[in-house]
This record gives sequence, C-alpha cells and structure tokens, in this order.
Amino acid sequence: MMPSACSIRVRGVVQGVGFRPYVYRLARANTLKGWVLNGEEGVEIYLEGAERGLQAFVRDLRTRPPAAAAIVEIEVHRAQSLGLTEFTIRESQRRERPTVRISPDLPVCDACLEELFDPSNRRYRYPYINCTNCGPRYTVVLGLPYDRPRTTMQNWPLDEYCANEYQDPGNRRFHAQPVACSACGPGYYLRLDNTVVPGNEESIRKAVLLLKDGSILAVKGLGGYHLACDAANSTAVIALRERKYRKEKPFAVMARNPKVARGLVKLSAETEELLVSRARPIVLAPARTGSSEVAAEVAPENNELGVMLPYTPLHHLLFAAGAPKTLVMTSANRSSEPIAFEDGEAISRLSGIADAFLIGERPIARRVDDSVVRAGTFGPMILRRSRGYALGADAAFPRTRPILAVGADLKNTITLVVDGQAFVSQHIGDLSDYESFCAFRETIRDMISMYEVRPEELLVVHDSHPEYVSTAHALGLGGFRLQSVQHHRAHIASVVAERGDWSRRIVGVSFDGTGYGDGGNIWGGEIFVGSVTEGFERVAHLRSAPLPGGDGAAQYPVQAAAGFLSELDSLPDLTAEPFAFPKRYKDALNLIDKKVRTFATTSVGRLFDATAALLGFTREITFEGQAAMWLEQLARGVPATEPYPFPYTGEELDFRPLLHSVISDRRRGRDLCEIAYAFHGGIARGLYDALITICKVEDIPTVVLSGGVFQNELLQEYLKELLKNEKLEIWTNHAVPPNDGGISLGQAAIAGFSVLNRSN
Ligand code: ZN
Ligand code: FE
Repeated sequence: MMPSACSIRVRGVVQGVGFRPYVYRLARANTLKGWVLNGEEGVEIYLEGAERGLQAFVRDLRTRPPAAAAIVEIEVHRAQSLGLTEFTIRESQRRERPTVRISPDLPVCDACLEELFDPSNRRYRYPYINCTNCGPRYTVVLGLPYDRPRTTMQNWPLDEYCANEYQDPGNRRFHAQPVACSACGPGYYLRLDNTVVPGNEESIRKAVLLLKDGSILAVKGLGGYHLACDAANSTAVIALRERKYRKEKPFAVMARNPKVARGLVKLSAETEELLVSRARPIVLAPARTGSSEVAAEVAPENNELGVMLPYTPLHHLLFAAGAPKTLVMTSANRSSEPIAFEDGEAISRLSGIADAFLIGERPIARRVDDSVVRAGTFGPMILRRSRGYALGADAAFPRTRPILAVGADLKNTITLVVDGQAFVSQHIGDLSDYESFCAFRETIRDMISMYEVRPEELLVVHDSHPEYVSTAHALGLGGFRLQSVQHHRAHIASVVAERGDWSRRIVGVSFDGTGYGDGGNIWGGEIFVGSVTEGFERVAHLRSAPLPGGDGAAQYPVQAAAGFLSELDSLPDLTAEPFAFPKRYKDALNLIDKKVRTFATTSVGRLFDATAALLGFTREITFEGQAAMWLEQLARGVPATEPYPFPYTGEELDFRPLLHSVISDRRRGRDLCEIAYAFHGGIARGLYDALITICKVEDIPTVVLSGGVFQNELLQEYLKELLKNEKLEIWTNHAVPPNDGGISLGQAAIAGFSVLNRSN
C-alpha cells in the first residue's frame, strides 16, 4: 500500500526557537519520512508514512509545539507520495520576499544555566552559552532566513565540539545558530583606563570588585550597553545621575533573583508572572519602603520601582561572582540619547560616565532597550516595548501593499506591514534628539531591507502634525503613496489592531498629552465613535482652553496652568501663598492676553499638569509625564473621598468646576493627597458619565481607552470600579503601549483600510 503524504506550512515565530529539531524528533517518533526547512514564510514540512503517524504528528504540532515558538497558522495539504527513505533537515530555501517572524531575544534557559555552573561542563562559566531554547535572536540577526551566516556570529567558525552538537538532531543545540563555547566563540574582556583585563573569568571578577567598590560600569548586554552600579550605594547612584545628566527619572534595578525582587517591591501574582516571563522586562511595582537594598536616589519621590531579573548568562555570572544583589541597570546613554550598542561608539560616548567597560566581543546587530511593563488594571500594559517583544508581529492585517507607518515624534516606533503581518519596531525614542533620529532612519532601513521591500512599493503613513520630524522624513521616503493619520485616532486604532476586529463600532477615548488635531489645535481629550473600516468621528472632547507656548508648555506645569486657569472667573492671585507660582506663570498669562504663541488645547495631560502645579509642582519637569506621575503618586493610599465635579455637558467635559474645587480646597488647607484623589475621581466620574451617555445614544457596548494619560493606574482603577455594573466591554492596549509607542500600529491600521476602501 502506498503511504499517505502531506505538506505542512507553519507560520508565526517558528525560526530560531528549536522548531526544526522538534519536527525532526516528532517525525522520527512517528516513523515518518520527509524533510523540514526554514522557508521565508515560516517552516515548511513534507511528510510521508502511515496515516496514523501523520495524524499524530499534526496533533502534537498543534497541541505541544516547542516552548519558545508562537504559532499563528498551520496549513496542511495532501501531497503526492515520493517514496522517501529517511527524514532530513534541508538547507534553507530562498524564494520571494521573506515574511517569517524573527523571534525576540530569549533569556538563558534552566538547562543552560545548569551547565553554566557545572565545572565539568565545556561551557562552565562561558558568558555566551545558549541553545535552541534560549539566547539572542533579534539582536544578532543580520538577514533572513535565520541561519548562522546571517547572524553576528558569522565570524566565529564552530569547533568540532560545537559542530557536532549543531549537527546532532538529538541535541539541544541542534541548529542553534548562535552556539559557541569558550574554545571557539567570542568572549568578554574588561577595559579600565588604558589597560585591558582579558579572559571571561578574570574580567568578570574584576568587574565585580569594581561594582562592590562603588564604581560605575558600562556592561555590554543583548541589545546595547547598560550602565551598572550598586543600587544600595547612594554615592554611586548620585554619581551616575550627575554623570548621565539624569536628575530625577527613576532608574531600573536588576535583582539577583525573585526572592531579592520580592524584598524590593510588592509582587502580585500578575506582576511576578511578568517578571519571570520570557520577555524578562523591567516590571513596575509598588516599592517596599525602608528596603536597605536600594538607595533613595534610585527612584526619588516615587513609590513605584522598576525591577528586572538577570536574563543573560553574563548577568548570572556577575551575581554568582559576588556582585551586589541589586544593581542599577540603566540604558547606557546621556539623557534622551538612544542606547549605545557599538563598542567604539560606547567607549567614546560613555567615557566620563563609566569608570570601566565590560565588553563582549559578539557584535550587536541593532540596538534594543529593555522593555518596561506593568500588571495593569485592565491586564498587562507595556509602557516601552523593546527587548523580548520586538520584533514579534503584533497584529494580523488584511493582505495589502506593504505599509510603513513612521509613528509620532515622542516615544517613536515604526510599523511595517508585509503580507498581512504587522511588525512593530523596538522602542526608538524621542526624535528631537539627533542620535534618536539617526536610530529612527536606521530602523526604517533595517526593517525594509530585512523584508526586502522596495521604497516605491510602500504606502507611507505619518502623523498629521506638519512639524513632526517623522512627518518630514516620511515625505522624503519615496513611497508610492503618502497618507497622514490624526494622532488620537491612531491611538484608538492601535487597540483595535491588536484584536483585528476591524469593523467593530466602538466608543474610543483618547486622553493624551498632546497631538495635532483636525483643525490644527492641540488635542488630547477626545472621544470618538466609529470603526477602523468606516473611520472615527469625534463626538466629544475636553472643553477647550488656551495653551500659551503650545507644546512647549508640556515642560512647565505652571504654563499649562495659566491656560486652563485663564478660563476661570474670580481667580485668586496664584503668585501668592499657598500657590507661589513663579514668574513664568505671569509671562504665560501675558502671552494669552496678547494672543501670542497661544494655541487652543483639549489636552487632558495638560489638565493634569495644571492641577499638579496648583498642588505644588511649580518647577520645570525633567522627564515626560513627570508632573502627572507626581500627581498620581500623591493621590495614592488616601481614603476615598468625594470626586470633584467634572460635568459632561454633551460634547464637552467642563474642567472649570473641577479646577475651582482644587483651588478652594487648596486655599482652605485641605490635605494635598485628598485633593489629588478627588481630582482623579472627578476625571473618572466625568468620563464615566460621558461614556454612559454616548454608548447609550450610539447603542455601542464597546469602549476603547488609549493615549498616554491611561498609563495612570489610579484613573483606570477608578473607572473600572465605576463601570463594574455596566454591561460595557473595555478594550485597552496589551501588545503595544497606550502612549505614543503604539501610534505607528494605529496609523498602519487606519491607512491600510482607507487604501482598501479606495480600491473597492
Ligand atoms: Zn539554553
Ligand atoms: Fe499621544
């Protein structure tokens, strides 16, 4: 009897995750013949043998795939039997445009960790140990398909030992592209002034001595350099702040193990799950007060702390060699520059910051920062999406022409859509910084060439802000068509894109810091109705106020305050106690009076700033969103109080009664924390009233929340509590950030569908 045969195509994150050896073993276990290979669209399998064996194979493939794989689709087709006599792994095949997803970088696995600390193992204390279940991926890939000659390991030929493992289908390192050992692979060395300490063990030992001594070290990691120092050592942390020109923005801490982490922050089950997840992100959680393991200067005036666990073999080696059990680990850069990732660049940019450099020889293909996440009120929330998540695909689109969406100017990311898969880049940063702008250009080039897209095929999408750097760059990219998308509609669409429910009508709330509105005003407190396919119509918004200095007001809470307060009757003198606004406030009022450099705004982010100013935050901010974060922290941990009035009048949410209440309570000396709480309550309550009305009128049961303001957990908690008895479904971002890091995905969605509509 002729054997049955079938061909199978598997799409998703299936390369570089031990998929072929897995298929090989599974085929052999079911006595099937055939082959497997990495194709450009994923893994391709041909099988022949007994019908039962084929069915068992497909069942196991569906139900028990390799741990690191993320399968999106398995296509099985009947095929003609070829009468093969064995099962083989074939060389990668190149055909058309690659659409395979590149696996994100993976943390070192338990099996490798065991070998790392086993003196009898060949890779004992080898900082680049890895296998098919773990190690670098996106940060070493130079081209597709994923194979050693197209990785940054191309210059290290395998020795016999590694080659044997690499070729042995029964081995954990079978086709592990970055495989290496201390005999044939790259190593680490330490650079201190003009001397070099060679050797993995020696350099790590010396690095640990320096860390214990309070020195600041530049340490090469997966996607770039970190600046590291003892987190318990105030002097070291203060020195790091001074040298890095980073006054107040919190630093993240790497804790030796989960137990140490639990001593630093309160870990809920959800938070701990994120902490140990494959992405190994920085997780924000409530700090435990009085921990001696973290100096106060690590996260000043902040009751949250960002914590992560070791994820490379090197991190484990540092802790095992006696490094302090909590280390500040922050992206190696000067304030606002992108993370350094090339050795020469790192040494020149970081000399003067780092006392020594712990340098690994394996080149980094592209810069990828640590990701930042939180176990949010409505589920996990990514605040910075980078290492461990990039470059996974974040959404399935209809198959259109390739789309390139260039995002917004702050917290920039870009999105490339090819053959129905949307790839959102790693976090790039603030494009007003020249180095970040260069990184933005590089990332566009990188992604386009990775997926072999020609610029003239591209639908290029940009923000509607005419003065955005990203907009100007988009105009010069030479795409076949250009399209602009309004910022806050893109925020809403980013949530819908994650779910792929394109024609679902929703009520979308975009509470944000800033963004260019339809008429050129500064938006940021908008409510829309519609769907991605039919478009979003603005149905309500925050009452408009003047904003002296425009987007520049984001830097100075008192300047934003001047705008909102100028709309109030019977205003007390705010330069007097208890407000003590500085001169900048009066200057701002003057601008408004003379209508100079004054714009209309509906930004809820600026309303938070204004309130922070009224409660005492009258200085300049030193990082984006600082005043609003300060206000949220202030409101934490006080008993619930009556919310301030923030009435929805149909089309408008009126901030005037809200600010009047803040001012009069402040004047009569009410506790600042209570005022901050009542303000949050007011915003939530007002929004709730608006939503209930709009959802009823429009007969829509689905609400989307996005925009930077929704990084505020207290606001979300309050809203969730108010909505708990309503039959409304709340959608928030989970795969991309609710801040401007999610804009590019939303842009791609809206533009993609308008092209589809046009061609119909
Ligand atoms: Zn491993
Ligand atoms: Fe935004």
